[in-house]
Amino acid sequence: MNEISLMSAPAPEATIGTLPSLLGATREELGDALAAIGVPEREIRMRTAQVWHWIYFHGIRSFDTMLNVGKGLRTTLAAHYSLERPQVVSEQVSVDGTRKWLIRLPPVDAQDRGAEVECVYIPESDRGTLCISSQVGCTLTCSFCHTGTQKLVRNLSAREIVSQLVVAREKLGDFPGLVPPKDGLLPTEGNRPITNIVFMGMGEPLYNFDNVRKAVSVLSDGEGLSLSRRRITVSTAGVVPQMEALGREAGSMLAVSLHAVRDDLRDKLVPLNKKYPIKTLLEACRTYPGASNARRITFEYVMLKDINDSPAEARELIRLLKGIPAKINLIPFNPWPGAPYDCSDWDRIERFSDIVFNAGYASPVRTPRGRDILAACGQLKSETEKLRARARLLGED
Ligand code: SAH
Repeated sequence: MNEISLMSAPAPEATIGTLPSLLGATREELGDALAAIGVPEREIRMRTAQVWHWIYFHGIRSFDTMLNVGKGLRTTLAAHYSLERPQVVSEQVSVDGTRKWLIRLPPVDAQDRGAEVECVYIPESDRGTLCISSQVGCTLTCSFCHTGTQKLVRNLSAREIVSQLVVAREKLGDFPGLVPPKDGLLPTEGNRPITNIVFMGMGEPLYNFDNVRKAVSVLSDGEGLSLSRRRITVSTAGVVPQMEALGREAGSMLAVSLHAVRDDLRDKLVPLNKKYPIKTLLEACRTYPGASNARRITFEYVMLKDINDSPAEARELIRLLKGIPAKINLIPFNPWPGAPYDCSDWDRIERFSDIVFNAGYASPVRTPRGRDILAACGQLKSETEKLRARARLLGED
């Protein structure tokens, strides 16, 4: 290691505390960051591998801990970069073990006042799923989704997407040397607490495709965070032009928010349907790279009372999905104040599920999780804002 060239690297412009964080960087970006502080070309690969392992496998928070990296480089790294994480502003633990974290992202520029996203952890006996966000807010205005009533603030960067998993693993004590919290349920079957990731938090991932693709490459890197691509699911309301690239370049699993079997109804529920109607959307599913019986596409279908929940619609759904390796995820509607819909009655959901199941599709009904902490689908963020506003009114904040 050439200490001289390291020491003569450009002086950091930012003051301590605002150094750019390397957390969430791709391998390429990390290599560039090392080159920028004078690590010689011939060492970049090896140093990148070392630093990568410390950041993503060990989850370290300080460059001092990188024991196999020379002191000189550690000092230079610390002079130019940080490993700062977004801040967890609040943590709520549901009676069912679901945890919700409100995460404040550091401002990206002078105009940015610092955005917040929510991230939800759902433990089950055989798996633990982390539901992450891809945007702050959403532009889609789906009529049954509360998150959709907020304006988009901005896309999340790949680093901000990745950092949601890092923060969650820290909170769950899931890096070497950390201890799991005692107050929550964690999966029992010998797995790591987080086995699966779903892009089902705030935002439309395929409107932020580049960053989602980059984030998936970091999340799935076997030398680091190590989540299999088969356990990373990107959910879309149907941004057809990006779907092929998602399969080809990210290689993740696909979920599609279908919710209706007729265009007139889907136009109302998911306005994006006017642009990419059901037929076009299903055609893109038929040709989704990598879809097979072992890698099925999930179709999400929210159960809205007297709107889309009839047996005839269940049968039509089966007809539409013919030839697509699919599973169907029925989601009981999670109500929010002022919502123009109700959740279907339970027997209606069961009837729907039976029809789909008897046609040979797995059709689990997604048990609402974390309703008591407003962590269920479509309840994110805006609810927290409401609570805060109420607390302010009551003088509690
Ligand atoms: N924009 C992407 C990612 C969001 S995923 C997409 O639409 O797929 C969030 C999932 O929860 C979607 O299937 C969405 O349709 C569903 N959802 C939103 N609001 C809901 C609510 N109030 N009750 C139940 N499911 C809801």
